[in-house]
Amino acid sequence: MPELPEVETIRRELQLRLRGQTVRAVEVCVPKMAHPSAAALRQGLSGRRVLAVKRRAKMLVCVLSGQRYLVFHLKMTGQLVFAAKSGRTVSGGHPIPNLGVLPNKFTHVIFRFRGGGTLYFNDQRKFGWVKLVDADGLHAMTAHLGMEPLSGAYTWGAFARAVHRYPNREIKQVLMDAERIAGVGNIYADESCFCARLRPTRRVRTIREGDLKILYRCIPRVLRLALRHKGTTQDTYRRVNGQSGYMAPFLNVYGRKGKPCKRCHSPIVKTVVGQRGTHYCPRCQK
Ligand SMILES: [Zn+2]
Repeated sequence: MPELPEVETIRRELQLRLRGQTVRAVEVCVPKMAHPSAAALRQGLSGRRVLAVKRRAKMLVCVLSGQRYLVFHLKMTGQLVFAAKSGRTVSGGHPIPNLGVLPNKFTHVIFRFRGGGTLYFNDQRKFGWVKLVDADGLHAMTAHLGMEPLSGAYTWGAFARAVHRYPNREIKQVLMDAERIAGVGNIYADESCFCARLRPTRRVRTIREGDLKILYRCIPRVLRLALRHKGTTQDTYRRVNGQSGYMAPFLNVYGRKGKPCKRCHSPIVKTVVGQRGTHYCPRCQK
């Protein structure tokens, strides 16, 4: 599941390619992925220009002329690939080995632009979706979301308030609650807790203010580190080198059960928090 750094990486790539482009035609192969309907997408998008590509939580938002918004959610295995007129492609999202010639059997929606470029929305499992909305529709989709941890809204005061709302919850559950903090998923919640030397299972009320402050600082640090590394990953991915461990080299705990802690060499353990696999070092995370 792509989290904030992955979606933000895709956003940056798409912003470079799509801004200023005008939609010529839309083809929808899997109608259930297109909202409000395939016909609405075909009719509502043609002739509209992409003004910017933004992100809210894990959603990508293409701001279009005429106050329309094209919102993508890649879910588990969604992928966006932009092919320029020259044939050069830039992709982001779930790695599909041997991408090959596009469209392929995983291509479900195709956006063609007047400049000759094409955006392919691929998804192996078809859980992803794309939705065309107006300003009210966008508001309805985003109003409940919590603060963006890489934005100015993310302050110590706002963070402390959000966390203390649930004193009996395990801290990881709060970090993953999109209505409090947007875009932090399973991987970066574990990594942020490691950074702060806090067990993901710690109840909020038992955490001292000083330790909570460290966690507050760790979250954007971990996300920015992932963003930086994602650049390299995207290169690997574009060359379609397979899907193993694309974020692995810089992860400290996630997916490292039984391996030595990079800080103290104790074996990393795996438990469950909120039905999600959760990793921590039993020695240096308290
Ligand atoms: Zn350790």
